[in-house]
Amino acid sequence: MNLSSIREDFPILQRTIYKKYPLVYLDNGATTQKPRQVVEAMSEEYYNVNANVHRGVHFLSQQATEMHEQSRETVRRFINARSTNEIIFTRGTTESINLVASCFGDAMMQEGDEVIVSEMEHHSNIVSWQLVAARKGIRLRVIPITDDGRLCMDAYEQLFTEHTKLVSVAHVSNVLGTINPVGDIIRIAHDHGVPVLIDGAQSTPHMAIDVQQLDCDFFAFSGHKIYGPTGIGVLYGKEEWLDRLPPYMGGGEMIQSVSFEHTTYNELPFKFEAGTPDYVATTGLARALDYVSAIGMDRIEAHERDLTRYAMERMMEIEGMHIFGPMDDHDAVISFQVGNIHHLDLGTLLDRLGIAIRTGHHCAEPLMHRLGIQGTARASFALYNTREEIDALVSAIERVRRMF
Ligand code: PLP
Repeated sequence: MNLSSIREDFPILQRTIYKKYPLVYLDNGATTQKPRQVVEAMSEEYYNVNANVHRGVHFLSQQATEMHEQSRETVRRFINARSTNEIIFTRGTTESINLVASCFGDAMMQEGDEVIVSEMEHHSNIVSWQLVAARKGIRLRVIPITDDGRLCMDAYEQLFTEHTKLVSVAHVSNVLGTINPVGDIIRIAHDHGVPVLIDGAQSTPHMAIDVQQLDCDFFAFSGHKIYGPTGIGVLYGKEEWLDRLPPYMGGGEMIQSVSFEHTTYNELPFKFEAGTPDYVATTGLARALDYVSAIGMDRIEAHERDLTRYAMERMMEIEGMHIFGPMDDHDAVISFQVGNIHHLDLGTLLDRLGIAIRTGHHCAEPLMHRLGIQGTARASFALYNTREEIDALVSAIERVRRMF
């Protein structure tokens, strides 16, 4: 991978912050930076194509529609879905999970039914289900984790009952960096006749995803975490499931015909896409997927794994360093604490040294409770990060540690 030419595609990486040059951006788990190719494609569409999709007979509308539907095909290819009918555009992982929770909850769940989530979920994969729980009287069952941050697979198997209707778990933890054994999770659920939703927010940017090989029933991810624009994301669903679910929102585009007496719904995927979609963002997302595909997801994964291993080794040299999550097979996110330095102080001081990391509970408060902590500092890596940036992080942490 030619890192210096890749870095040139991301102008923001040349910024000077607090007179520190260049910025070291290690908050990629929250959102990634955008390459020129994405931003320019979106400006180009606004400047030269813009028109509402699916509606107009005029040239621009047809061109915008073609681009939008071509983007859907790019997404389909990227995650190897069978059909574009299985690709629903949403605002992101959060909306994708809420869509499944709401529609699946309404159509498929009764009072007393259960959904299995895990102790390491992001709030979006907890609260969405709690909303359904409050409405429908369903229950959340929680897969516990081991002390080194892996799912207890034995306990998982024990959670299935005749009331289990769905399993919804993260592919990769945004706190622990754990790569969950989703193949086994899905196989076990299917043995019980239960479908599975995979939250791919933190896996899609870092590894090749093949939804047919995974055999998951639903898969959610966000564009902004994979070098695409904000406000666009994807819900993949097997056609057989999407066909059985009711629409999520009502409005234009999702209908076939409307009368006050009787309304019929559009076919897939439009049934789930009420209103004007963000058709410029879908172009941006497609260009982002083209961008990572041209580099190769396997090469991105290898580069980021190497960086993560290097970072963990170097960080463990620091006195008082505690890294959360598994020490091997760790994805590109490292949550840590140093002695008893408060994570907020650590993050603020690193920021002053020109290094952007994340601090807090990372939208995973139940996991924080399990770990008996209030929060961590978190460094997360992307394809443009370098070993020099890890060195800068390590010496900055060392400097902060000496200040305390
Ligand atoms: N799930 C996980 C594991 C995440 O890390 C995140 C975001 O950090 C989300 C879901 C929510 O993603 P978004 O805010 O893009 O909807």
